[in-house]
Amino acid sequence: MITVFVLLSYGRRSSLNEETVTETPSDLFDTELPDKEISVLIEGTILPGKGMLDALTAVEGISLEQAFEISESLKYDVDFRFIVAGERFVVEMHPEHNTIKSFSYMPDPVTTHRLFRNIDGSLEYELIEIPTEKRYRYVEGEISTTLNRALNEREIEPSVAATVCGILECIINFRSDARKGDKFTVLLEERYHNGDKLRGARVLFASYDGVRTGRRVAYYFSDTDKNSAYNAHYTKSGEALIVTALRYPVDRVHVTSPFGYRIHPVTRRRSFHNGVDYRGSIGDPVYAVASGVVIDTGYDNISGNRITIEHPDKTRTAYYHLNRIRVRRGQRVIARQRIGDIGRTGRVTGPHLHFGVMDPKGNWINPMNRRMIATKRLEGEKYARFLVQMDEIDELLSSHIRKERLFANGNINNPGSSLIISSLNGISY
Ligand SMILES: [Zn+2]
Repeated sequence: MITVFVLLSYGRRSSLNEETVTETPSDLFDTELPDKEISVLIEGTILPGKGMLDALTAVEGISLEQAFEISESLKYDVDFRFIVAGERFVVEMHPEHNTIKSFSYMPDPVTTHRLFRNIDGSLEYELIEIPTEKRYRYVEGEISTTLNRALNEREIEPSVAATVCGILECIINFRSDARKGDKFTVLLEERYHNGDKLRGARVLFASYDGVRTGRRVAYYFSDTDKNSAYNAHYTKSGEALIVTALRYPVDRVHVTSPFGYRIHPVTRRRSFHNGVDYRGSIGDPVYAVASGVVIDTGYDNISGNRITIEHPDKTRTAYYHLNRIRVRRGQRVIARQRIGDIGRTGRVTGPHLHFGVMDPKGNWINPMNRRMIATKRLEGEKYARFLVQMDEIDELLSSHIRKERLFANGNINNPGSSLIISSLNGISY
């Protein structure tokens, strides 16, 4: 069985096209194709500051209609918040019919989001994941200049360092209370594939010990659903670490359309999307993100059933396409109060919540730039699970601290270890 593949590699429309005939097809496709059938594989990458649809329309050989078909089929399974410039995708085309046979998007070396043409003609989704190995890395250090610099010197990648800073900034006032010589520790959960570390890490634990602050700790709570709005960092008593944050308007956080310019899924025209769309099912609860007064409820052909709330700082939040409105105009609401149900009213292609934030001057701002949490404090069954998870994290911590002290005291350099051996002798770094 010989399968001929024509691999066309495209970047932006203006770039030169490189044409290669390969005899060894990508292992993603070689088992899926019937004998002697020719497929055209078109490769593309996510562009800086752009979404999936923009990346697809920038590729030659893919029509706008086809780009829509892919992005609309994909958005229910891939959270569009996490798409990053430089990530690769491959579109497999039928050269005679000029139709899409399959689509694969590879955000990292172990994950493939794949769409394939079903018998009924639609594009069906499948997730292909290669198992990874979890490794834990314990890092400790001392503040000599800024926390961020100290983390950098500990070889913690910028996005993870930003998470650590975000967590610690919630429990410590760095401007007034941080002192040279204060100590911090971090426990990271990293993923490896074939010995290579994948991008990112989960911050399971962070602590800060300072002369003015005393000891402060933060633990990660992992809810049963990976998209749960409760997945976040909390103190031992279950206090969320971003107390000033807005509450999430939904329980599950999956963004199908971010804020900014996009091609509208219904009108197919380029327009500004002045909020974010959260995926949901009809009837799922919609919550007020902060306390305030309901200043508008109603229906129109575009927003569907809508609610607007004005908050004490004159910021307004908008909730569109609701199936049901559960508040009246003039009513006071508190943060995380249920105000309505997710629906598909107005100009939509499917059920979702459109959520918008307007600043006091009347400009729509990106809601994703605002910090959001599900709750101020974990309670009941969630707090019970958090207690169990804290015990597990403490176990990991004590075993890693023991190992680290052993290496540090014996001055052993262990290249196979995923631990970073920090300086315990007061050497400045
Ligand atoms: Zn929207």
